[in-house]
Amino acid sequence: MKNDAPQELLIHADHTNLGQPDVQVPITVAYGDGIGPEIMDATLKVLAAAGARIAPETIDIGERLYQAGHSSGIAPESWDSLRRTRVFLKAPITTPSGGGYKSLNVTIRKTLGLYANVRPCVSYAPFVATQHPKLDLVIVRENEEDLYAGIEHRQTDEVFQCLKLITRPGCEKIVRYAFEYARANGRKKVTCMTKDNIMKMTDGLFHRVFDEIRAEYPEIETDHMIIDIGAARLATRPELFDVIVTPNLYGDILSDIAAEMTGSVGLAGSANIGEHVAMFEAIHGSAPDIAGQGIANPSGLLLGAVMMLVHIGQPEVAARIHNAWLCALEDGVTTADLHAPAAGAGATAETAHPRLGTQAFAEAVIARLGRLPQTLKPVTYQQAPAPRALEVAPPLYVRAPAARKTLVGVDVFVHQSALSAEALAQRLQVGNTPALALQMITNRGVKVWPGGFPETFCTDHWRCRFAVTATEGTTTHREIVALLGTLTDAGVDVIKTENLCAFDGVNGYALGQGQ
Ligand code: NAD
Repeated sequence: MKNDAPQELLIHADHTNLGQPDVQVPITVAYGDGIGPEIMDATLKVLAAAGARIAPETIDIGERLYQAGHSSGIAPESWDSLRRTRVFLKAPITTPSGGGYKSLNVTIRKTLGLYANVRPCVSYAPFVATQHPKLDLVIVRENEEDLYAGIEHRQTDEVFQCLKLITRPGCEKIVRYAFEYARANGRKKVTCMTKDNIMKMTDGLFHRVFDEIRAEYPEIETDHMIIDIGAARLATRPELFDVIVTPNLYGDILSDIAAEMTGSVGLAGSANIGEHVAMFEAIHGSAPDIAGQGIANPSGLLLGAVMMLVHIGQPEVAARIHNAWLCALEDGVTTADLHAPAAGAGATAETAHPRLGTQAFAEAVIARLGRLPQTLKPVTYQQAPAPRALEVAPPLYVRAPAARKTLVGVDVFVHQSALSAEALAQRLQVGNTPALALQMITNRGVKVWPGGFPETFCTDHWRCRFAVTATEGTTTHREIVALLGTLTDAGVDVIKTENLCAFDGVNGYALGQGQ
């Protein structure tokens, strides 16, 4: 299998002329898998009829590429197109299960630095049946970090690990983006959701950065919710929310829930924004169960394309399409996935028509170009969602001076199933020196030595903390290497180590639960 990820990202495109009436903006288009080709055809037909000034370049990605031996699902020359146009309209692709294939969606987002995933979710009641007619919110999901770093290991017979990475630059970029988006789009409130009552260091950083940056946007109301109650409120009282900014995994889950609450996951479009490139798509997948039948709803990709048009400086075309699409909904134009409109609502002659196929739905939108919706709120796009056309990106991340870092111990992770915590501690204490000594053992994060409880269930995976013995003492990497040598000679199976450091005197590690 080939690894086709680009070695370095060169940016060639000149976007200074975006928005000028006579310029055809080059964009890269991928038709994708499953229903992808059907909904892309329909979408491009609407864009052409609406007068979108685009020059599409087509690339082939997804299933056929995987089958041809490209393990990443994309060929090297396709990266060239993306780096040249910097704008990508992408239909959904199928990720083959098993076989070591990585998700191409995740690869594209991370390789091109698409750090912000913007997912507007809006209810269209009474024309699309929903229990939440007032739902109108935008989820701004961090798109590159968190558990999606994809760093996973099997460590013992019983234990598998996925590394959750949250970085200060990642937090600053996504939080700023959420506030810039709110400001540019007249949104009044930004809610941050994390689980920082449990993950105090990683989610704690996200929350802290939110608190730092919100001070720069005094006109925007803010709050923070723990993700569990936040998700519960979203599902029951979505009108409480306007813009939600949240780490990757929570945002992924919340946005599917919110999209489905509007009536169908097939209705929502999504933008993936980076400092250099932006990608626009539907939030749903390739729907292999209905592929080739001509019944898929093209709305998600069409609304993704609307976001793209705003991004490349064609807001008037975007609004024309969006309003025509709203008119189609008002007229009862519908596809198979949408629930029937409530009785009496949208009761025009078309309500009685059978549900339309993909292409006929596109034709129905085209037939309404130039009209404004009567009941639903017409859309205007005077200003693009930040960063408009890539030129008004939030300020670039400025690295702070390095902290004073001191080494104060090491967590040694050990694989063993034969010994109790007490017996393991005895074996490990062979590594103690006057300066560095075994302080604690945890199992799945819970302290089991000293003073563990017999009720605590233990796996074969132990975190053994050696800490400096003197107050304000420090250790060295050489002392740690010597410790590992001694433990290995004593037959201890060391899986990995994590150094314990203090940064400007503040401990950079969490206590064990129960410590
Ligand atoms: P899916 O979103 O493709 O389908 C879920 C359900 O929703 C299916 O019943 C499908 O028929 C329906 N549906 C989805 N889009 C629709 C539309 N436009 N019109 C009408 N009905 C629609 O999710 P899945 O079945 O879990 O995934 C299928 C494949 O898509 C998988 O290989 C997955 O990895 C991939 N996927 C790709 C993307 C992407 O490319 N961005 C996103 C999610 C999933």
